[in-house]
Amino acid sequence: MTVNPSGWRPSTPANEQGEANTVTGNRALMLEEALLFEIGDTERTGVDFGEVPSAVQRLGKLARNRPIGLAGMTEPEAVRHYTRLSRQNYAIDLGLFPLGSCTMKHNPRLNEKLARLPGFADIHPLQPQETVQGALEVIDQLAAWLITLTGMHSVAMSPKAGAHGELCGLLSIRSALDARGDKREVVLVPESAHGTNPATAAFCGFRVESIPATSAGRVDLDALRERLGPDVAGVMITNPNTCGLFEPDMIAISDAVHAVGGFVYCDGANFNAIVGKVRPGDLGIDAMHINLHKTFSTPHGGGGPGSGPVVLSEALSPFAPLPYVTKTSDGFRLVEEETALAESSESFGRMVAFHGQMGMFTRALTYILSHGANGLRQVAEDSVLNANYILRSLEDVLDAPFAHSGPCMHEAIFSDKGFSGGLSTIDLAKALIDEGFHPMTMYFPLVVHGAMLVEPTETESKASLDQFIAALRSIGERAKAGDQSLKAAPVHAPRRRLDETLAARKPVLTYRDPEPAQAAE
Ligand SMILES: *Cc1c(COP(=O)(O)O)cnc(C)c1O
Repeated sequence: MTVNPSGWRPSTPANEQGEANTVTGNRALMLEEALLFEIGDTERTGVDFGEVPSAVQRLGKLARNRPIGLAGMTEPEAVRHYTRLSRQNYAIDLGLFPLGSCTMKHNPRLNEKLARLPGFADIHPLQPQETVQGALEVIDQLAAWLITLTGMHSVAMSPKAGAHGELCGLLSIRSALDARGDKREVVLVPESAHGTNPATAAFCGFRVESIPATSAGRVDLDALRERLGPDVAGVMITNPNTCGLFEPDMIAISDAVHAVGGFVYCDGANFNAIVGKVRPGDLGIDAMHINLHKTFSTPHGGGGPGSGPVVLSEALSPFAPLPYVTKTSDGFRLVEEETALAESSESFGRMVAFHGQMGMFTRALTYILSHGANGLRQVAEDSVLNANYILRSLEDVLDAPFAHSGPCMHEAIFSDKGFSGGLSTIDLAKALIDEGFHPMTMYFPLVVHGAMLVEPTETESKASLDQFIAALRSIGERAKAGDQSLKAAPVHAPRRRLDETLAARKPVLTYRDPEPAQAAE
């Protein structure tokens, strides 16, 4: 395809499906967009710089010896380039985002408004503490809420995402074991666990062993009990688990682990289903991360950073990382140095440069305060109701492996059992794109063949759930009938089915000017 120096690329006469193409490549309001490198050039810029004053160059051999060659654009061209690209994206502000385990819910605009207040948005982590008392109070208040909601003893606020929180929890467990001179090295993780769980345990130097699941999709308590012993440092359990089910034996699991001297880590990514209803502290849990960017909104998934505070039991609290906020007689103080602490402190150290994700703290606290205790309970109830509505509306079309074992929590799981003609989960997911939806989580958890994990969240209306269900019913029926046209999906997207494995394994991250011969193709 030729790139016209003035920017636009004349399109080919017909696309792969043989449909006539337009001259511009655009299809009505679906606008094509070439790469910045193809449509920009080094002569254009959106800003006029004055002459660069001569200055002594101090870079030595590191000084650039040829032009950098970055493509430039005028301001209106740049605005259009990025706006056009953004329209090819899917976002929570456009429609239902059914990604299971991700809790992609609406982010209330109120959160954004408060996070943008200059007293929060324009401060710097190195400012004197007396000038950021309000921000420290937000951290302190949010911490108090997280402790109340979970019934735990303390909370480490600084971890920057769920996986980082897992690291915090396991480092605390490691320190607690070290403090008693205990060399345990095995961490047990259920087969259905999120990949970050075994990865974190291995990263902390533990040996990971898996615990089998029962046919009802829960941890096999007998198998767990049998494996427990003096070499087990702890277990990492997700509750509600990644099959969308509550682990009813959680207290028995915690008791059994504690009886052999181990610790219980809970992956709290699914807290949305139980917030305000169940306090993890009552289930014998020693450490649990809370994905603020899931349960307590705050944008994520390309929209913003995560935040993963970790609530800790009394046994693990002394080992929590620095820094943390305390309230003193003259206000709030960020405790940054171990020497400033009580002598008994056994903190394992510091995980981040500063105190955590301030913008996410402000959003999460806004979310909590604007919902109140009753509202948070309703979040859990409505999210569970919505997931069960999806489960029961589709179980006659899509195989639902755990539907027989009762209601699900906030996510519903289906499998590709019953699809014919060589069709699989990926074909259904791609057809969902044609229907205007982001696909659900696919092929996870691994314990379900061709898994489709759907999490609607509480912020979807019945009308939007009904539309999603109608789309899935239609595609599910086509998949069962072996409709081979599904293999071509998506057909209405700007790009067709891509080789995602190749893209993930061998991404082409560097732009090279096409050879003249190729450019004339
Ligand atoms: C999202 C998630 C994680 C990881 O959290 P991040 O914030 O993405 O690091 C861990 N476990 C489960 C079950 C999750 O859903």
